[in-house]
Order: sequence, then structure tokens, then C-alpha cells
Amino acid sequence: MRKPLLAANWKMYKTVDEARAFVDAFLPMVKDQTRNEVVICPAMPLLPAVVDGCKGSNVSVGAQNMHAAEEGAYTGATSCAMIKSVGCTHVILGHSERRQYFHETDADVNAKLKRALKGGLTPIVCVGELDAEREAGQTVEVLRRQTSRAIVGISAEHARPLVIAYEPVWAIGTGKTATPEIAAEAHLTIRTTLAHTLGREFADNVRILYGGSVKPENVSSLLNQPEIDGALVGGASLDPASFAKIVNYSAF
Ligand code: PEP
Repeated sequence: MRKPLLAANWKMYKTVDEARAFVDAFLPMVKDQTRNEVVICPAMPLLPAVVDGCKGSNVSVGAQNMHAAEEGAYTGATSCAMIKSVGCTHVILGHSERRQYFHETDADVNAKLKRALKGGLTPIVCVGELDAEREAGQTVEVLRRQTSRAIVGISAEHARPLVIAYEPVWAIGTGKTATPEIAAEAHLTIRTTLAHTLGREFADNVRILYGGSVKPENVSSLLNQPEIDGALVGGASLDPASFAKIVNYSAF
């Protein structure tokens, strides 16, 4: 059984005080939640406050990005060891906003993934097609390419903690959500691609999250698809009550 993972991607929102207020309001609303793993991924300067606030709770904390190098002269960058040292357990890699605005390539994602796995962080690797790619019938090709290039040179044994997030770029922050069927089909493509390189057993156990305008209103229909193992949530994770409703979604 794959334990559902609900991850909040706060992007470049909230100050330390706002992050603390979120945690204070959110934790009591999800304290009885044992069915799902829950992770909050705030911006770097908020990490210590959120880790501190979540200490002893059922909520983990992750970063939204990291550098591939162990350390070095990379002004403005943050290493895997730094992220771990503040108490984070997860890291989002290859988010479409990183690919689009910071020109991250599949090779960059692969290098970061290797570093995160070596450093003991649970990586959430994002893949997903652009609107134009879906329109051009290239979705399967894009998902196969991004997934297979992310795992180049990584064995099934080392990749074990890997989580993939399928985030169709046309659904991120747009209010457009992939139908549960579209998402399930994409997840199957990703799982099959992983099986091809890392083996069937690995692929059967890997968690594939859906991301793209997930809200309290649509979370159940998405997560009740057997292929969908959780969600990466942007906008709707900024409000504690909204994200708590998502985390406590009803399984039918
Ligand atoms: C995201 O940023 O990963 C995301 C899915 O955003 P939203 O939920 O706002 O579409």
C-alpha cells in the first residue's frame, strides 16, 4: 500500500510571522490524521520557524529547491546539507516554475536528485507537460522524457524514497484541474516509465502525486483514483483551513 502524501508548496509567499500563525492554526486541524503523510514546503528563510512549530507533530517540512553541489561559491544558493541541518526531510525538485523562470533542465534535476538522495532528503520530483505540448499530442513523450532523464544513473535501491509529482503546467495556478481520468492516465505513463528503468517492484511502490489547482472541492475525486497517491498543492495550501480540508479529504 502506498501511503498518500499531501504536500504544500507555499512558493514565495508568507513572512516568518505568517508562517508561524499558519502552523498554529493548521496543526490542531490535522492532529488526528494518520492515513496521510503531510509535508509543508515554505520558502528558505521560513524553514527554521516552520520546523520548530511542527516539532513533535505529524507534519514534516521540506524545501522548494536546492543546489546540486555539495557546497561551493554559489551565491544565493542552498545546499542539501543546509536544508537537512535545519530539520527538513523533503525537497521539491524540478518544479515547472524552476524550469520555466530559472531555466532548470532535466540534467539539473537529475544532478539535484542524486544529491538529495545521497544527502538523505525525500525528493519530490515534478514533471508535467505545457498546454501547447498537450495540444500537440506530446504529453506521453514529455512525461517519458522528463521522468527517464531525472533518474539517469540512479539505481532502484538508491531511488527508494523518490516521490514524483505530475503537475500539468496548464493546471498550475490557473484554476483548471486535470480530470481524474487525465491525471490517472498520466500517472500510469510515469509509472510505466519508472518500471522500464528501475523495475516493476520499484514502480509499484513509488508514490506519484497530482498537482494543479487541487482544492478542497476536487481533492476526493482526484485522490480516490488508485493511480493517484497524493497531491502537491500550491494556492490552496496557503490557508490553514483550506489545506486541512485537503489533508482530511474523504476517501470513498
Ligand atoms: C504547485 O505550485 O505545485 C501547484 C500545483 O500550484 P496550484 O495548486 O496553485 O495550482
